[in-house]
Amino acid sequence: MSSGFPFAAPFKEIKGSPIRELFKYLSTPGMISFAGGYPAPELFDIPGLQASISTQASTLQESMSYGATEGLPVLREILATLCTQRGIQAGKDDILVTSGSQQAYELLVRALIAPGDTALVERPAYPAAIQGLRLAGANIVTVGVEEDGTNLEELARALQQHQPKFFYCVPTFANPSGITLSLEKRKKLLALLATTDCLLIEDDPYGQLRFSGEPLPTLAELARSTPAQDQVIYLSSLSKTVAPGLRIGWMVAHPEILRRCVLAKQVDDMCSAPFMQAVAAHYLNSGRYAQHLPYIINTYRQRAQCMLNAFSADFDGQLKLVRPEGGMFIWGYLPPDINATRLLPLAIDEKVMFVPGSGFYADKPDENAFRLSFAMSNEAQITEGVTRFRKALDRY
Ligand code: PMP
Repeated sequence: MSSGFPFAAPFKEIKGSPIRELFKYLSTPGMISFAGGYPAPELFDIPGLQASISTQASTLQESMSYGATEGLPVLREILATLCTQRGIQAGKDDILVTSGSQQAYELLVRALIAPGDTALVERPAYPAAIQGLRLAGANIVTVGVEEDGTNLEELARALQQHQPKFFYCVPTFANPSGITLSLEKRKKLLALLATTDCLLIEDDPYGQLRFSGEPLPTLAELARSTPAQDQVIYLSSLSKTVAPGLRIGWMVAHPEILRRCVLAKQVDDMCSAPFMQAVAAHYLNSGRYAQHLPYIINTYRQRAQCMLNAFSADFDGQLKLVRPEGGMFIWGYLPPDINATRLLPLAIDEKVMFVPGSGFYADKPDENAFRLSFAMSNEAQITEGVTRFRKALDRY
């Protein structure tokens, strides 16, 4: 019957996210998951959030009404301050509050992409970024990633050959690769961009989760007072540093771009939930965010180190793992003759899950690549999970 429904062309042949398809196994008793991209709920500052929720509960008449599409002024104000602390010059009016940074991306796709338009994503890339473009009927062109980030020769070629509307990238602790674009490449990328009309969407949900190495300026900061200044659109989120259930993200962009996104949001959800915005603003203003974040970062540092140690002890160089300096992910390569998608059922049988790399490619995948998340498991689970991974690989 479903074949008879009048779906729009991109929705006719649509496949779901390979990561979401794995969720059904999460409820298997004893399963250890290195698969999801979720932050660890036990690390949320529940007392702090509770305090903010209680305070905001006294202003329910206001926060149960519709709010401004651009976002609650008090939240826009504090997000502008957070941006300024990150070196991004933004005032309250430069901020659009969105329902997660995912929505910010979707608004941009809607505002910028007509069917057949080209956009660039990295190879590998965040699957929802790829899917958003597919559903918009975009022509997706990929640009490779090296250990120090985007392959700039490939980017230069793609910019020249395809005149893309935008290049979407996660320059700091990328999902899925964990890779960070080096400072030198950041500067070169912006110089390259300035020779074109292409916009850059800098998606930065993980940048605050640095657990080793030196902090790097965002592309948005580096672009300031350069010819590329108006081309950089900065997205960030409270999902990985406070809690994803708030659904609070934001965008900083040129006023003309922001205005188009406000119009798109008006017909999308009118406004992000005012109560959650009020809670987020109170929480950020309470000072608890700054106090609590180091605890999340320390825990991820320990978990990442534990996972890297366990893999290097158990696999003796058989696997290539990319060591991240922050974020939530470790990207890896199995030996060339091992297909990660075929390894997964064996791993699930051993009660450990990971994500095969193939879901992160808009074109031909690396079949032996895979993504691990260290965020959601404690150290005992990580050690046990790696032992199970070893067993699955031995059975392959
Ligand atoms: N961008 C990237 C790279 C992500 O990994 C995620 C979350 N998995 C998002 C955006 C969406 O985050 P949010 O919860 O803010 O919508």
